[in-house]
Amino acid sequence: MRERNDEDRDPLACAEPGCPMLGTVDRGSSGRFLCSAHAWAEPARWRGITEALNRQQRLRQFIADLRRQDSVAPAVLLSAARQVWGDGSPLLPASWETLEAYRERMHRELVARVEEAVS
Ligand SMILES: [Zn+2]
Repeated sequence: MRERNDEDRDPLACAEPGCPMLGTVDRGSSGRFLCSAHAWAEPARWRGITEALNRQQRLRQFIADLRRQDSVAPAVLLSAARQVWGDGSPLLPASWETLEAYRERMHRELVARVEEAVS
């Protein structure tokens, strides 16, 4: 049975209604892909996780922008990050950090914020 809004949703979206993430994890090969935040959490926490993810719109958008880049000059990345996070933020990329490592760190930051919100 389909949810009423399913036709409007990205077919790659997390199967949990209202979740803004991509579905990347299919536990049990059900064809029902959840995002990593939902896939590994108890179902009782799913609604809170969805709400927490939706509150992190700026960070999610930033991560999505990073994912669209194959490579980016460090100065360009730093400049883009400064526009989002401001000077001196701990969320700015370090000079030694690769784009892939930075993307990973931003994803961990999102996971940590969601976990803090629902704990
Ligand atoms: Zn999800």
